[in-house]
Amino acid sequence: MASFKPSIPVVNPIDGAKYHHRASGEVHVIIGPMFAGKTTALLRRIRSEGNNGRNVAMIKSSKDTRYAVDSVVTHDGIKFPCWALSDLTSFRQKLGDDAYEKLDVIGIDEAQFFEDLYDFCCNAADHDGKTIIVAGLDGDYLRRSFGPVLDVVPLADTVTKLTARCELCGKRAFFTFRKTMAKQTELIAGADVYMPVCRQHYVNGQLVIEAANASSVLECRKVQSESRLEVEAAVAI
Ligand SMILES: [Zn+2]
Repeated sequence: MASFKPSIPVVNPIDGAKYHHRASGEVHVIIGPMFAGKTTALLRRIRSEGNNGRNVAMIKSSKDTRYAVDSVVTHDGIKFPCWALSDLTSFRQKLGDDAYEKLDVIGIDEAQFFEDLYDFCCNAADHDGKTIIVAGLDGDYLRRSFGPVLDVVPLADTVTKLTARCELCGKRAFFTFRKTMAKQTELIAGADVYMPVCRQHYVNGQLVIEAANASSVLECRKVQSESRLEVEAAVAI
């Protein structure tokens, strides 16, 4: 089925002339902690749009090279070809104007890493008629807003917050807990460093981390992996 974008006649309020404006696009945002299935939900949506005859493209951050660089891969191993980029502004140029014009749907994975997310979504949805599906972390390991993902919520048609399972009790997990003492906001890693946790285990975990940080003896004497095991054991209590 060929894709079809209806053009809508618009009257210029100044000279009364009619011109055609492309139908506006959409912005959908999928957020949640790590291991909540955000990439899986994004891929499902993109595949479904593709099966409906719409032209689709996937973009992910070139910062995240944990899996294949030219594929989006979910934690459970499902793959989809994608563009690995450091910014979104360069996407149109890299793809080419003709190919960009034909695109209907653009998926953006790990959206927290794209500083130009807001402007890209604005232009692509408002002016270029694209449907943009954004998936990313809403919060970092300290539950602070992570990058620009929450900035695009006011642009969005829909916002979906997914949850994971708490690794320690199996309840719904809303937060990403970092099991190490590392303090930088961006520390790209998987289950060796992060785990999804419920509120209670998040709070317990932060207390353990804060106590460990306050103890210079622990910081000096423990190697990181030992500290991590100790944190996990202490949080689970
Ligand atoms: Zn829990």
